[in-house]
Amino acid sequence: MIKEMRLKANAKINLGLDVLRKREDGYHDLRMIMQSISLHDVLELTLTRTPGIRIRTNLGFLPVNEDNLVHKAAALLFEEFGTEQGVFIDLKKNIPVAAGLAGGSSDAAAVLTGLNRMLDLKLTTEELMERGVRIGADVPFCILKGTALAEGIGEQLTVLPALPRCSILLVKPPVHVSTKYVYTHLRADELSEHPDIDGQIEALHTGDLACLSAKMGNVLETVTLPAHPVIGTIKDKLRSLGALNAMMSGSGPTVFGIFDDPQKAREAYSRLKSEGAYQVFLTEGINQ
Ligand code: ATP
Repeated sequence: MIKEMRLKANAKINLGLDVLRKREDGYHDLRMIMQSISLHDVLELTLTRTPGIRIRTNLGFLPVNEDNLVHKAAALLFEEFGTEQGVFIDLKKNIPVAAGLAGGSSDAAAVLTGLNRMLDLKLTTEELMERGVRIGADVPFCILKGTALAEGIGEQLTVLPALPRCSILLVKPPVHVSTKYVYTHLRADELSEHPDIDGQIEALHTGDLACLSAKMGNVLETVTLPAHPVIGTIKDKLRSLGALNAMMSGSGPTVFGIFDDPQKAREAYSRLKSEGAYQVFLTEGINQ
C-alpha cells in the first residue's frame, strides 16, 4: 500500500464551447473542445490510521469540510469501498477559484486517481470517470487530461489529436462570474452564431494552429461580455499583443490568448503583469 502521494491537478481551457439546447432537466447539451494546461494545483495525500477526511489548504476562504470537492471525491471512494483508514489532503491552490478553469474539478479528479492507486482499488480510467461525473461534469475530463471533445453535459468524451505547440496566456480580471448565473441567462435557442467545433476538430487533425484559433468561439460570452465589459477589453488587448486569437474559458471570467510565437507571449505576459490589474499566467497545453 502507498502511504503518501503527491499529485498535480491541471487546469483546463475550452478551445471551443457550444451549447446545443437546454434540456428538460435544466442542464444544457454542450459541445466543447477541452484542453489541459500546465497551470496546476498540488495535492499531497497521506493515509492515516484514524478514519475521516482532513483537509488543509493555502487559500483561507476555501471550505475544508464536505463542501470541498476533494472531500466529496475521497468520501465517494471511502463509502463505496469501506476502509478503516482516513486521509489527510494538503491542497496547494495555484489555479484561480471560480475562474472557468475547472480547478475544483481537477482537484477532485486527482484525489480519485490518487486514492485508487494508494488503496489499490484497481478501478480503470473509465470506472474512475463514471464515479467522477457524480461530483461534477468536468471531472471525467480532468481524469482523462489532454485534448478531447466533450458532449452531453460535458461527460461524454472523445480523445482528439494533441494541440499543436503554442503558448497560452491566461488573464483573469478581478470580477466574479457565477456559472449558475451564466447558464440561467443564456438564451440557448436564440443564439445567432455557433462556433465551428467540427472545423476545430479538423484543424487538430491537420495540426493547423492558425485555423484552430480562427475558429475559436464560446457562446457563453453572449452573457458574460455585456455583464463584464472588461472581458472584451482583455480579448482585444491579447490580440493587439500578438495572440492568434483570444477567448473566454468556460463560464469565465478568465480569458486566454493563443500565441504561436513564444517571445510575443512572454512580452505580452510581462506587459499585462506590469499593469497590475489582472492575474496573469503563462502556460502551455499538456498531452494525455
Ligand atoms: P468550472 O470551470 O468547472 O465551472 P471553475 O473553475 O469556474 O469551475 P472552481 O474553481 O472549480 O470553479 O470552483 C468553484 C466553486 O467551488 C467555488 O465557489 C469554491 O468555493 C468551490 N470549491 C469546492 N472545492 C474546491 C476546490 N478544491 N478548489 C476550488 N474551488 C472549490
